[in-house]
Amino acid sequence: MKNVLVVGSGISGMGAIKLGIHYNYNMRLTTLSSIDEVEKNTLTSLGVDIEEGRHSINDVNWANIIVKSPGVPSNIPLIDAARDSAIPIISEIEFAYRHTESTIIAITGTNGKTTTSHLIYHILKDNGFDVALVGNIGTSFSEQLVCRPADFYVVEISSFQLEDIVDFKPNISVILNIQPDHLDRYNNNFEKYIKTKMKIQVNQDNADSFIYHGDDLNIAPFLSAIKANKYSFSNSTNRSNNHGAFLDGDRIIINTIQNKFTMTIHNLALQGTHNIYNSMAASIAASNLGIQKEIIKKSLSNFKGVEHRLEFVGKISGVNFINDSKATNCNSVYYALDSITDPVIWICGGVDKGNDYSILKDLVASKVKTIIILGRDIKDIHINFKNCVNTIVNVDTMDQAVNKSFSLADSGDTVLLSPACASFDLFQNYEERGRVFKNNVLSI
Ligand code: ADP
Repeated sequence: MKNVLVVGSGISGMGAIKLGIHYNYNMRLTTLSSIDEVEKNTLTSLGVDIEEGRHSINDVNWANIIVKSPGVPSNIPLIDAARDSAIPIISEIEFAYRHTESTIIAITGTNGKTTTSHLIYHILKDNGFDVALVGNIGTSFSEQLVCRPADFYVVEISSFQLEDIVDFKPNISVILNIQPDHLDRYNNNFEKYIKTKMKIQVNQDNADSFIYHGDDLNIAPFLSAIKANKYSFSNSTNRSNNHGAFLDGDRIIINTIQNKFTMTIHNLALQGTHNIYNSMAASIAASNLGIQKEIIKKSLSNFKGVEHRLEFVGKISGVNFINDSKATNCNSVYYALDSITDPVIWICGGVDKGNDYSILKDLVASKVKTIIILGRDIKDIHINFKNCVNTIVNVDTMDQAVNKSFSLADSGDTVLLSPACASFDLFQNYEERGRVFKNNVLSI
């Protein structure tokens, strides 16, 4: 019987606890938070030892294995002590992986994970596969294994979740892009962040597939050492000799061993350059699973999109409102602005995670007429864009942001909430920020 110590009581930690109970392991949970009374009573009655409000180091030697939640930093005393005692430390994704034989499609990248995971899930479902969507997306991989096991798992994986994988070996892995983000977690060391993302394929072999952004210079240096079959997606015909997908004018060309087809980008449900990449990545993954091109094309064109990602909210007096609250870094804002052809009133700001706004300067100068800054980190936005637009307005609430943007907009303009920043200064999370935006727009 194994003694499993789970550190952290978020979605991942609680999922790991449920999986451990299911396998009759001895389970302990240590968390700095407090756990809901009802849940605590249930877990205690199932034999789980629970420690709240602290992590006691004395107990570490009880464990045969430690499952560390992604939100828990790797340099806390408990984890240091476990390392000193040579106790294996794994992530929840790794824990789940060790308890399933199903096919795994794993998706990472700085931006586009959720959209692409949903897209792949949608195609697989349309094809009649028994598939579940798990990971950094709502239901943890571990919980899904207990509640509703499936033949195929589409697993969205953040870099935090990749930190403590050991044997995790997806059948198909996808890296959508690697751009600076979360550098606070990696001591401002971008190399460290890149290497963590690349771990998604590290255990793959030539029975597996690795799908990657062929134009991303941060991925390129690693390619020669990769053992899996490589498939690139690219917006350039220069990559037409690679297996994978590329863009030729307004057509996507899919060229894998299993499938060869083209599709006009006008038939894609998700518009914008970034979504062409996401659609190409999803098409390659689906092709590698043997799904027919007709199903893939149909699914790519009837996909409904994901809330808070370039989500169309409505048109009021000729002004379009778009909710892109999930854009918490400059790279995603870049693609949002790039995809809009109308003059833009851009609502941005919040908690800056280390932005380099200079990559947006040209786009802002050509597309944005007014900037509305909502939230804490204001200074760098003013410094970077004061010469790009005529008007920059600071506001304190979303209500003010929406009303101000509407009063400054002309018919034919688009008001875009694409903050480039996290939301924690004013909102619980980006979902709440997006919902408040939508409610304010709908009550104009
Ligand atoms: P993630 O799960 O990686 O955060 P999402 O699909 O939730 O990605 O999208 C986050 C933000 O990034 C949204 O603003 C979305 O419009 C934008 N985005 C989506 N796909 C891409 C991509 N391939 N490249 C850059 N930005 C993207």
